[in-house]
Amino acid sequence: MHDLYVDIAKRLNDLGVRIEECEVAAAAKESKADHSALMLTDRVLSLALQKKNERTVETLRKFSRIPVHKRLEDFDFSFQPTIDEKQIRRLATLGFVHARENILLIGPPGCGKSHLAISFAELCIDQGMRAYYITMSDLAMKLAEAKKAGKLKRVMASLMRPSLLVIDELGYDHLDLEASELIFKLVAARYEQKSIVVTSNFPISRWSEVFGSDALTQVIADRLIHHAEIINIKGKSYRLKDHL
Ligand code: ADP
Ligand code: MG
Repeated sequence: MHDLYVDIAKRLNDLGVRIEECEVAAAAKESKADHSALMLTDRVLSLALQKKNERTVETLRKFSRIPVHKRLEDFDFSFQPTIDEKQIRRLATLGFVHARENILLIGPPGCGKSHLAISFAELCIDQGMRAYYITMSDLAMKLAEAKKAGKLKRVMASLMRPSLLVIDELGYDHLDLEASELIFKLVAARYEQKSIVVTSNFPISRWSEVFGSDALTQVIADRLIHHAEIINIKGKSYRLKDHL
């Protein structure tokens, strides 16, 4: 019994070992181990796996740069009747991430765009997938700085890794042409490869005010929209809920 325990402890130390590679599990299969040993093996392995998953999720959460915790459970659909709850619940199953499709959330300030976008990112993390949150302004700055420092390739590669990229607040700042070109590069790179969720207080028809060029706006919007669900929210601000 004691040997078994030491064995298990050693194996667990050795992360990345598959259970079927574990001798104890093999012995168990051949019924060489007694019942209590089997129980112990099972409990220890499951606890170790649980801890490992928790650490993975914790790491993914840190990596995601999500600014505030937002869960779909906390979203009050009755407050925002133009949102189709069924559509959101379907999107929450993350089929769109597996299909490498995008979501555009368009609507006035406070209507819940960031909340929903972050909820999708949190759901990805729950499933052990990488998600990354950034505002459009910060993304433009990050890319421009990377280019200046000769690190564009590396930064682009890092922005290709997450299964879901949330680009929040398209429309809050106007970008210069160089930044818009870099945004296009990124959107084109992720096109049909990895998902993007964009939130904007501007309808797509006004995005050229943000990107400063009709041509660039068209190619950016084209790639974002081709495989995307566009969610137009027309409603009051939740922030002003108690003052209305
Ligand atoms: P937007 O990004 O559209 O400007 P947010 O998603 O940031 O708006 O929402 C503003 C605040 O109100 C956030 O704290 C958010 O969690 C909350 N909120 C917005 N809509 C809802 C809702 N329908 N139910 C619950 N909380 C909401
Ligand atoms: Mg927002």
